[in-house]
Amino acid sequence: RQHMARGLPKQKPISGVKQVVVVASGKGGVGKSTTAVNLALGLMANNPSKSVGLLDADIHGPSIPKLMNLKGNPDLTETNRMVPLTNYGIPCMSMGFLVDEEAPIVWRGLMVMSALEKLLRQVDWGTLDYLVVDMPPGTGDVQLSISQNIPVTGAVIVSTPQDIALLDARRGAEMFRKVNVPVLGLVQNMSVFQCPNCQHQTHIFGSDGARKLADTLGVHFLGDIPLHLNIREMSDRGQPVVISSPDSPEAEAYRKLAAAV
Ligand code: ADP
Repeated sequence: RQHMARGLPKQKPISGVKQVVVVASGKGGVGKSTTAVNLALGLMANNPSKSVGLLDADIHGPSIPKLMNLKGNPDLTETNRMVPLTNYGIPCMSMGFLVDEEAPIVWRGLMVMSALEKLLRQVDWGTLDYLVVDMPPGTGDVQLSISQNIPVTGAVIVSTPQDIALLDARRGAEMFRKVNVPVLGLVQNMSVFQCPNCQHQTHIFGSDGARKLADTLGVHFLGDIPLHLNIREMSDRGQPVVISSPDSPEAEAYRKLAAAV
């Protein structure tokens, strides 16, 4: 009713999906996709009886195929719905499964919107307890459209402690508020680097900017993910740390994040 009162389009749930958690960031390169993937795996690790899916809503720069080590074209059901590709127990859908890997995706706004519509409405997820959505960076049409067209349980905003990233994260938080999507909280990524040789800790982008911003915005601080070589290397291999190094502190950090969401 609130949405009607604000003149927003009517929201329709994604069929079979109970909760939708979007992972957003104000700008690119802060670790949003890495966080989305490990959050999805963390949710499953924490609750093995729950089913979790992953939707890559970054139409221009899909990263889920690489991060989840998946490629190929989805099969179609009899009713022409796309069957997600699955790895590590997580069904995934991405624009990257539908277009040529090597071709840059240069599309006009309308085409992006119709692609998004397909990703939101034409996927056969079966039943999911959680659908984690890897949003494109920033606060554009795709983010608005998702927030307005499907009931989003909440948004997780990823930021580094650097000032500029924080400013953009603030814009992201304000956008979700405007469209009535609850902000579940802020994750601080790459805040601390621990030298693998001498164990010295360095706060490469500053130490607690995101924590302070969360206070200022009145949203929860969901935790810190360290800057760790293992996270980067395993992501590049398509073996996210929650799966490939479950006993590591970095995997633990993602499971803690999943428990806080
Ligand atoms: P975004 O989705 O915000 O553009 P990505 O998740 O693609 O960012 O991450 C950008 C790069 O940073 C990738 O190479 C990724 O492996 C790396 N990265 C992200 N988070 C971490 C981290 N905590 N430690 C080390 N590398 C990271």
